[in-house]
Amino acid sequence: MKRIKKTKIIATLGPASSSYNTIEELIKEGVDVLRINFSHSSHQEAEILINDIRRINDNLNTNTSILADLQGPKLRIGEMSQNIILSVGSEVKIKTGKEFIGDDKMIFINYQSLPKDIKQGEKILIDDGKIILKVTDTNKKDQIKAEVIQGGNISSNKGFNLPNTNISQPALTKKDIEDAIFSAKQNVDWIALSFVRHESDMKSLIELLEKNTDHRIPVIAKIEKPEGVKNIDDIMKHASGIMVARGDLGVEINAAEVPLIQKKLVHKAKKARIPVIIATQMMESMMESLNPNRAEVNDVANSVMDGADAVMLSGETSVGKYPVEVIQTISRIIGKVENSNLISLKHKHPTDYESDRFITKSICYYAAKIANDTNAKAISTLTNSGYTAYQISSWRPKTHVLVFTSNKRILTQLNLLWGVKAFYYSGTESTDKTVEEINKIAVENNYLQKDEKVINLTSMPIHEKGMVNTVRVSKI
Ligand code: PGA
Ligand code: MN
Repeated sequence: MKRIKKTKIIATLGPASSSYNTIEELIKEGVDVLRINFSHSSHQEAEILINDIRRINDNLNTNTSILADLQGPKLRIGEMSQNIILSVGSEVKIKTGKEFIGDDKMIFINYQSLPKDIKQGEKILIDDGKIILKVTDTNKKDQIKAEVIQGGNISSNKGFNLPNTNISQPALTKKDIEDAIFSAKQNVDWIALSFVRHESDMKSLIELLEKNTDHRIPVIAKIEKPEGVKNIDDIMKHASGIMVARGDLGVEINAAEVPLIQKKLVHKAKKARIPVIIATQMMESMMESLNPNRAEVNDVANSVMDGADAVMLSGETSVGKYPVEVIQTISRIIGKVENSNLISLKHKHPTDYESDRFITKSICYYAAKIANDTNAKAISTLTNSGYTAYQISSWRPKTHVLVFTSNKRILTQLNLLWGVKAFYYSGTESTDKTVEEINKIAVENNYLQKDEKVINLTSMPIHEKGMVNTVRVSKI
């Protein structure tokens, strides 16, 4: 039987991967979610990508999910002259206001109130921390003076981070609002918000989306600032998923802190039973080379063993030399580790007895347990909202989680979740008939074979389309 992996792969689209044929290859090699990064993509480009992905899904009969990633309050320097090098110990001026082309004496930045927000002694990290400046003076209006602590080459539009500064930028910039409305109109499956600091950041995006769609688009909080880590519990109240965005996180706080934060965030997400994505530099060396380095292989494997729902590729697939080979390689690594008995996530029965979803949660928990105890090969669930898929997936059963739904919108949305595969199904005749039919679909799709056991979750009576209340163990 064809082995189908459970841990999901997110690939970022960019110049290296935006052709119809390359997208098709990425999907065939195991990509489950495609990320459109609005830091680099125009609406016109995004619309072409979205249409192509949907066309490929129709042709290949796949459910590839579309994740729209909003840039958030990302800070950037302006245009720079060619070949500028900042040398250690020299002084540079940083100016806001009218844009100009920068050099080794003066650099433009896109953030008007920086001279007000920043204080003497604070650091400015440019280009993922490759260049470090220390502020020596600010006129509190439009100009900062800084000393170069770590120098090097500096080129146009590089991002910069202010690890010690409380920035007053709003969570949603004008560009983010436009990108979010565009994404909502395009009915993307997920929207991610960068640099989330407070729960109010999540609330404002969710409110904006509610105003612009008639259905709910789930939002992922990208955790990449110290405030995001600190306020994680409040942020998670509004998040349908979280991303450990190690690129910016490792610059904003000491990179040595990132591994434990990754573990902590994965643990919290699994406790809340929402998906968690591990992102950035997973296969970085494959941007230039056909082989990953050993540390990268271990990093991907360990992320899977920690309990990540999905691993994400950025530069590797968007601008790297080998976008398709990266997917083949990362799929192979996932396949080697994800079914190991050495992985054991802490399982604890849900205890929020008062919640109106408690019965459903409890059934999903026991379904995963029974599946493992009886060596069943799949758990299937009938759902309209997808709720049970999140629950079952988070218990990390040894089986696949097969979702049957008449809600076309969640077919692609659920594709981000660990182990989940969704099928369209609209029968409501009787529970017996339904179980018979969905088991047949599972067999046809190679998830089950003769004599194997399957755990079927349904809601009785079936025509009421209520919450899941029934567990049945069937043998094919
Ligand atoms: P980005 O987010 O690629 O949008 O910056 C991921 C990260 O910072 O790790
Ligand atoms: Mn980032």
